[in-house]
Amino acid sequence: MVILNETKGHESIISKLEKAQTTQHLASTHIFVGPAGIGKKRVALGMAQNLLCESREGRACGRCGSCIRVEKQQHESLLLTLPEKNQIKIDQARAILKFGHFKSLHTSSVVIIDDVELMNPQAANSLLKILEEPHQKLFFFLICNSLGRVLTTIRSRSQIWHFQPLSKNVIKELNPSYPEWILDASQGSLGAAELLTNRDNEDLRPHVFHWLKSFSTESKEKVLQEGRDLIVSKDQVLTIASLWQQMVRDAIVYKFRPEKIIHQDLAKEVSTLSIYSFEQLSKLFNLGQELETSVYRHWDMSLTTDYLIHETHKCLRGIS
Ligand SMILES: [Zn+2]
Repeated sequence: MVILNETKGHESIISKLEKAQTTQHLASTHIFVGPAGIGKKRVALGMAQNLLCESREGRACGRCGSCIRVEKQQHESLLLTLPEKNQIKIDQARAILKFGHFKSLHTSSVVIIDDVELMNPQAANSLLKILEEPHQKLFFFLICNSLGRVLTTIRSRSQIWHFQPLSKNVIKELNPSYPEWILDASQGSLGAAELLTNRDNEDLRPHVFHWLKSFSTESKEKVLQEGRDLIVSKDQVLTIASLWQQMVRDAIVYKFRPEKIIHQDLAKEVSTLSIYSFEQLSKLFNLGQELETSVYRHWDMSLTTDYLIHETHKCLRGIS
């Protein structure tokens, strides 16, 4: 398979990258920034396939041994680094250095680092030298959701590409069975659409609504327990944080344009949240953002959960 032939969206970025590749002007370090789940890693893998293809310059052939090994992510000249337990640690950075050091100067090699904002400062600093003076045929593709969370020293050594969310049409084309609320709620992210339609996560919406509602009706201990049960893994936290913000946004919108809410099929639940004041809902929205941020700042998840629940409880009970 030719990865870039099968990639939807991002045409202008791909065309600029390929032009730079064919004219030998491809920068050695790239940062791909944009919302999660829109295909940044896929474009990076597509570029790796182009660079490592045995039979062609430019767009990969998709058939040679090299192309197939990239597709399977098993190529000896491709190193894909993913966070382990929400962090990219110094050991992983050392593995990248070793990979870069021993690679041939004559054939290309590619390092893709996913969720680069989860790299701890020690690991990031250890990579600065290789990013500053990589050999000619070594290419880095660093992937992140928010540039602000990447060390300035890394940013300044990189060419930055801003990826836009996918259009509703592209998402519908990729999966025609998605209902309208998924197309709206996913906000251009195929990853979010998949999380929302995954059986477990579809069931998350009523849970998150119930939880947010329970703040004003249940004891703090009960709310705390419900929160701890909900917030378990990084993906789960990000899905909940995103649903949290959308639901609170819906509750605000419901006050004056109920027909404009994202979660139309849960209008009844939205209406129960909209009884809170505009100030309370704004504060609640910010707390949802804090939950999202906490993942990227390596905060202790259980402390964060407890703190946020305490603050939410105060906010919704009208205690300042
Ligand atoms: Zn090939």
